[in-house]
Parts: sequence; structure tokens; C-alpha cells
Amino acid sequence: MRQESKSVRNMPILEARSLRKIFHLGEHPVNALAGVDFVVEKGEFVALMGRSGSGKSTLLHLIGGLDRPSEGEVTLAGMQLSLLSDDKVTLVRRRNIGFVFQFFNLLPTLSTEENIALPLTIDGKDYSKYQEQIETLLAHVGLEGRRRHKPDQLSGGEQQRVAIARALVTQPSIILADEPTGNLDSKNSTAIMELLRRSCDELEQTIVVVTHDPRAAAYADRAVFLRDGKVAKEVRFKRGMKVETRLSKILKTMENLPDQA
Ligand code: ADP
Ligand code: MG
Repeated sequence: MRQESKSVRNMPILEARSLRKIFHLGEHPVNALAGVDFVVEKGEFVALMGRSGSGKSTLLHLIGGLDRPSEGEVTLAGMQLSLLSDDKVTLVRRRNIGFVFQFFNLLPTLSTEENIALPLTIDGKDYSKYQEQIETLLAHVGLEGRRRHKPDQLSGGEQQRVAIARALVTQPSIILADEPTGNLDSKNSTAIMELLRRSCDELEQTIVVVTHDPRAAAYADRAVFLRDGKVAKEVRFKRGMKVETRLSKILKTMENLPDQA
């Protein structure tokens, strides 16, 4: 049993090889990514760190099929994205990736339940057939009492929990979150990171979180530090290691990479 779960964990769900991204805007080209290899195994929870402008969002967009690399290859759930048309990439993205953003991006006219079901509705599915799954998700994110609320009737922390449930509803291969705690106070940030941690532990959800906050990154199994569009350093944590211990290791790493602050 143990061996079986180990072999599943060691299977890469995402492989990005030699990724480069050059933006041509204005006089000088910007090397946003300058050759990045990034592999994520099934069931892993990874934090992508680095100061502003280091290429975190660019990397997230490329691995999420929101943009194409200038060079290199992204393979997601066994599919090589460069071989697919834009329409096919959109389908792959819809079915395999759950996105979470800093500003929640909920539809203001929809209720909690309808926002959570949105990825199913967009995919042409009848969401009444998924009622049980949505109930389970409402409980998972602690919003059973908020199902008919509209986003403007929810706190920021609650809105982000709706966004996480929406990302989980398709049981995606991977969740990609860009600064999910960037607009929240520390109490709500902790609740969101604990929720992502539980989603990894209880639902075996694979997660990549971009954050510049070491406290948030301390919930992950691995922290990857970007600098000038390259991977500068990586720290792995043993399963079961305390958040406080992870945090102190991350802070120590940041001290040795002085431009991370
Ligand atoms: P981070 O998320 O780590 O703050 P980004 O990935 O957003 O960094 O940006 C990396 C670099 O690429 C920055 O110098 C940024 O200005 C540049 N960049 C990002 N997106 C674009 C774009 N669409 N057009 C031009 N330059 C961009
Ligand atoms: Mg960014």
C-alpha cells in the first residue's frame, strides 16, 4: 500500500523543460524566463518564490497554458502543449487546471454555489448532477452556510475559499495559484494556506502556489526560488515537518539569497 502511493507520487504531472520567455515590448527585449526546468510530481505542493519581476507569474502562465514559451516545452498530464492548437490547449486547461488568483475573480451575479459550479457549466455539464460533489466541496472549504450568498456579501477570505472550491470542482491534475493570499490579512492568509494544505493531504490535490510570503510558502512541500528568470535555489521538506520548521528553513535560504527580500 505504502509503495503504491509512493509510485503515484513520483509520477510527474507537469514537466517544463528549458523554458524561455522573451517579451518584446518597447526598445529592449525582456528575458522574463531564461531557461527554467520545473517538474511537479503528482500530489506535490510546491511554492514558487522570488522577488517581484523574477518571472513567477510568467512561469505559472506558461505551465498553465495561458501563454506560450519562446523556447522550451511544457508537458501537462502527459500532453505536450506545443503540439496542440490554441483551442485544444484551452480544453486541456479547462479540464486539467484549476486557477486561483490574487483578486478571487468570482462572477458578481452568481451565488457561492454557482461560482463553484462554473467550470462545469462552462464545460457544458449539467451541474445539478454534481450536487453531492458541490456539497462535499462546500464542507471542505467551510462555506456550507454561505451557498446562496453573492461575492459582495462575503469577506475576502470567504471569497478566496469559493475560488479554491471552484478550482477543485473539476478535480484538476493541478491547481495553480498566483499570490492567493496577496489581498488578505494574516489570519485569512493562514486559513487559505491551511485549506490548500488540506486539499493536498486529503484530496491528493497537486498544487503550485506563487507567493513572495515565506509564511505562506511554509505550507508547501518544496520551495523553488526564482531569480532573474532562472531557478536560483530549491528547498524540500519532509512530509510531516512542522510549518514553523519549514518557515525557518525558508528564511535561512532567503538570507543566503539576498535579493529575495
Ligand atoms: P513576478 O510574477 O515574479 O513578479 P513576472 O513573471 O510578472 O514576475 O515578470 C517577469 C518579467 O517579465 C518582468 O520584468 C516583467 O516586467 C516582464 N513581463 C511580464 N509580463 C510581461 C508582458 N506581458 N509584456 C512585457 N513584459 C512582461
Ligand atoms: Mg507575479
